[in-house]
Amino acid sequence: MSTSPRPQPGEPEAEHGPEGGGTAAAPAHPAAPDDLEPDPGPVSAPDPVRVSAVAVVTPAAPEPSAGPAGGGPEAGGPDASGPDAGVTGGPDAGAPATGGSDAGSPVTAGVVTGGPVIGGAVPAGARAPVSLSPSRANDFMQCPLLYRFRVIDRLPEKPSEAATRGTLVHAVLERLFDAPAAERTVPRAKELLPGQWAKLLQARPELAELFAGDPEGARLARWLGEAEALVERWFTLEDPTRLEPAERELFVEAELDSGLRLRGVIDRVDVAPTGEVRIVDYKTGKAPRPEYRDGALFQMTFYALVVWRLKGVIPRRLQLVYLGSGEVLTYDPVEADLRRVERRLLALWDAIAHATATGDWRPRPTKLCGWCDHQEHCPEFGGTPPVYPLPVLPSQRSG
Ligand code: SF4
Repeated sequence: MSTSPRPQPGEPEAEHGPEGGGTAAAPAHPAAPDDLEPDPGPVSAPDPVRVSAVAVVTPAAPEPSAGPAGGGPEAGGPDASGPDAGVTGGPDAGAPATGGSDAGSPVTAGVVTGGPVIGGAVPAGARAPVSLSPSRANDFMQCPLLYRFRVIDRLPEKPSEAATRGTLVHAVLERLFDAPAAERTVPRAKELLPGQWAKLLQARPELAELFAGDPEGARLARWLGEAEALVERWFTLEDPTRLEPAERELFVEAELDSGLRLRGVIDRVDVAPTGEVRIVDYKTGKAPRPEYRDGALFQMTFYALVVWRLKGVIPRRLQLVYLGSGEVLTYDPVEADLRRVERRLLALWDAIAHATATGDWRPRPTKLCGWCDHQEHCPEFGGTPPVYPLPVLPSQRSG
């Protein structure tokens, strides 16, 4: 079990945000999460994650007292924030499984038949899943076939303006903390945008196609303006001059007793002088409607579970900062919540393992199909999936 900087290209999955991550937790000043809101009442539960306390704060979310502190930003519809997303919500605008995901080492096998590979050579790039991240867990819950396309077939997906904007905003919010506290201002943050966009383009040249056919640069200028507005809104929700994050873009990975590996990237970790931990995630979309909040919090309880397993400490507060709507959603987890999410993840992993072994990845059409890049391969839309690239257990073969 470990926390470490985000994996580099070629290494397995990185979930969130664009940049590399922090290192082991350092003592930090800020953020004593002592401004807990009363439970506003029962939260409808589209999924089994139960929320012990939820609060939505519009504008100027009160900072945890005890010194400098802050709150945290994504939202309804297709999530535009970092590569990781909410749960059952809109399509994860983040990076799909291309380039590393919950996938493992190549599987060796032999003969490719008309159906699945049976004891044969596995096509390059095909991987059996070996770990789980919030985004990919969401994929499987949304549609098992989508999970297969992203994690096992690793089919390419087109970059989107929304997802890329989310990545850019994440990068700016992360880098802003490089500056001395007093210099973490709106103008300073805006100044970071062009440079971070250039860095992103350098790392992922394919993003240039987003603005192909825009010789005047009008679309790019509008898009950058939208990113700027999101960054500016963040300052109405948190005060970075009063925050000293312990970690930014922290890659975390933990192995459960069952052997299941959970991994992801946490946007920000604040540690109060008391040692209390707050996990913060920025979302560039809008906050979900109340009936979908449990889903939005799934990712955060996932991270809380990982931190708990790693450090033996249950985070005091989980905080989603929605830059799209200017709201902050918080959740104060208790042990029972984390045990519940762990059971849920184990059940999910069993289902993934079964589908991997049998090659039975069923499409589950929903309105979210409109955001799916793989309709041409989906039987629900008259498409045909690629030949299943992994070995299928002989006992599972049909016919
Ligand atoms: S288009 Fe097909 S593969 Fe994509 S989400 Fe819908 S059912 Fe799943």
